[in-house]
Amino acid sequence: MQGQGRVMRLGLGAKFTLTVLTILACTMAANALYSLYTSTRFHEKQLVERGRALGRLISLVSPEAILSFDFLLLNEYTRQVSAQPDVVYGVILSPDGAPLSAYIDRGDPLVRERTQETASDDVLGLLRKLDGDPGLIRLEFPIVHNDAHLGRFLVGISKTTLNNEFRRQLEVQLMALTALVLFLSMAIFLAFRHSVLFPIKALISASRDVGRGQHAMVEVKTEDELGQLAIAFNAMAEEVRQEQAKLHRQANFDTLTGLPNRLMALDRINHAISRASRSSEKFALFFIDLDNFKSVNDSLGHAVGDELLVATGARVQAILRDADTVARLGGDEFLVLVPDVVNELQAEEIAERLVRAISQPHTLSGRKVVARCSVGIVLFPENGNTVASLMANADNAMYQAKATGQGSAIFFTEDMNTRLRERMQMEQDLNQALELGQFELYFQPIFDTASGRHRGAEVLLRWQHPERGSISPAVFITLAEATGQIVGIGDWVLEQTCRYWAQWHRAGLGPEFLAINISRVQFRKRFSRRLSELIAIYEVPPSALELEITESVLLDDHNHVAEELNSLRAIGVTLSLDDFGTGYSSLSYLKRFRFDVLKIDRSFVAGLPTNGEDVSLVNAILAMAKGLGLAVVAEGVEHREQLDFLTEQGCALAQGFFLARPMDRQAYAAFLENIPVGEGVVQLPRNRNKQRIVRAG
Ligand code: C2E
Ligand code: MG
Ligand code: MG
Repeated sequence: MQGQGRVMRLGLGAKFTLTVLTILACTMAANALYSLYTSTRFHEKQLVERGRALGRLISLVSPEAILSFDFLLLNEYTRQVSAQPDVVYGVILSPDGAPLSAYIDRGDPLVRERTQETASDDVLGLLRKLDGDPGLIRLEFPIVHNDAHLGRFLVGISKTTLNNEFRRQLEVQLMALTALVLFLSMAIFLAFRHSVLFPIKALISASRDVGRGQHAMVEVKTEDELGQLAIAFNAMAEEVRQEQAKLHRQANFDTLTGLPNRLMALDRINHAISRASRSSEKFALFFIDLDNFKSVNDSLGHAVGDELLVATGARVQAILRDADTVARLGGDEFLVLVPDVVNELQAEEIAERLVRAISQPHTLSGRKVVARCSVGIVLFPENGNTVASLMANADNAMYQAKATGQGSAIFFTEDMNTRLRERMQMEQDLNQALELGQFELYFQPIFDTASGRHRGAEVLLRWQHPERGSISPAVFITLAEATGQIVGIGDWVLEQTCRYWAQWHRAGLGPEFLAINISRVQFRKRFSRRLSELIAIYEVPPSALELEITESVLLDDHNHVAEELNSLRAIGVTLSLDDFGTGYSSLSYLKRFRFDVLKIDRSFVAGLPTNGEDVSLVNAILAMAKGLGLAVVAEGVEHREQLDFLTEQGCALAQGFFLARPMDRQAYAAFLENIPVGEGVVQLPRNRNKQRIVRAG
């Protein structure tokens, strides 16, 4: 590999030109040499022919002069012959080889070379030396007269002129050839550069652009292979572009709604921050979360859930301007970014429009669906100057909006962060509370209204916080539900309850039943299986356990809830519907999910017996419970009047501060011990005053 670095790199143009140059030079040189050779051969033949003509002429005319010993004439003949161009000598020899007449061109270079070594009059010696010289054509002709051999005529013709001409021609040809080859090479190189190198360079630079993620196309100029290459390249570049666009879409857009996703949203907020900082402008972020999306998904199916998300995204988009951004952050969370917001009032108007648009009923798969939402609003720069702080505060405000009820929008305030910090602190403390044994169970007795008999107790959780003292579950249950911690805590409550019941039962104190509050979250986690395990371990008869379930449980996945309730019913525990009337449940739920007990929420008991509305409501609940064969427990009985009214109206059971406050384990055990054995009747603080009961209607 190292060697490669040292190898001289030749460009395609140089390689091509060199190859063409070599081929051209070789072919043209061969061609020139061949034509020179043939023309020289031709001229040599002409020389020989000329010699032959002279020879024949001399052998024809010389016999007469020989026979008459006219040497002068013979000399004239040989002189004439030698005067011919290129003829080096003409010699007439007698039959015995003696020269009769000789004429030698002593100026010829061939002769000049030889005569330096030979005596100038030694004709035969000179002829011997010249014999076999490649630069000389030697011809011999017999001289015959009437069949008598009179001698020989020798003629020598020099090839010097011919060779010189050959050399000159060669030089001229070589020069012309070189010029021609150079010219042709240049022309070929230019043509090659124009039609091959330029398109290739264009392709290389376009490839680099594509590599850098830029969209590049090359011009298709010809239909040859390079043209084909350009077409193929363009097709490939287009494919790469589409692939890149697809990847970009996948990375930055939500596949379901086609809206920008979280990544893109964060990027847009970043841009908005830079722009608004430069121009000292404000912008607003709206963090939107659908309130009942889970129940839509659970009850109507995921396809309808998806449709709802798409429709919501489209509605939000429809009420905004092009410059605004709507993004889906994931799940049922959307984010709206509105630049150039002047003040809170404008942001509030936008939020109102958002809430209104989202809460308009949808018709999805032929069903009417109403989605409500909670919106958290933040303004830049007041509520944060980084993407992270703006997002966190918007999320926090949304969370507060959610806590206030459905379909509301709330601006972020600093004390939300204080509350958030408190909540996070509580979440951390709650994490250790179970391990550190900070939980305790309290028991609030439940009585028969008519007889005053103690029947059982509701089990209530208390958290003995090292700094904050005893904390009611009303404060931390929602948080524990949100974080899932309730599952462990609820399990602890269940097991402790079973354990105490078994203890008290062994001591002969047994309350008839213990009612345990079960969270909606706990209910989702195969609760019935765990319950049967504990019942078996502690040998608690199922009828001694009552499970208090709030109406919110019934909003979850109906099939699962019905299945779980059936399992519990099969175990044989009592099912009680807690806080009846405060939730969203309809009468149809009561029919669908069979309960044994209804607990009238204390908010309805509070107004008894003077508040007409509460009176009618409680009467209606009692009548309905009677019709459905349900037992009723009234919660929060704080006054004698309330108890009297409830007793009068046939509400069989009651609990409340007036009857007994929730008490710890020891206090409840003591309470149980004080009940006369066999009777179970406690002396209730009773003093009926029927005049004060206000009847409904
Ligand atoms: P709940 O099930 O409706 O329980 C009755 C609540 O009313 C209890 O509050 C009780 O102390 C209170 N109360 C009883 N009588 C009176 C009265 O005469 N006047 C007034 N003003 N209040 C009365 P607590 O113990 O603070 O519990 C609040 C809620 O926390 C409970 O409401 C229940 O929903 C939940 N909870 C309690 N313990 C548990 C538990 O172990 N697990 C789960 N998941 N939830 C629990
Ligand atoms: Mg309860
Ligand atoms: Mg209740």
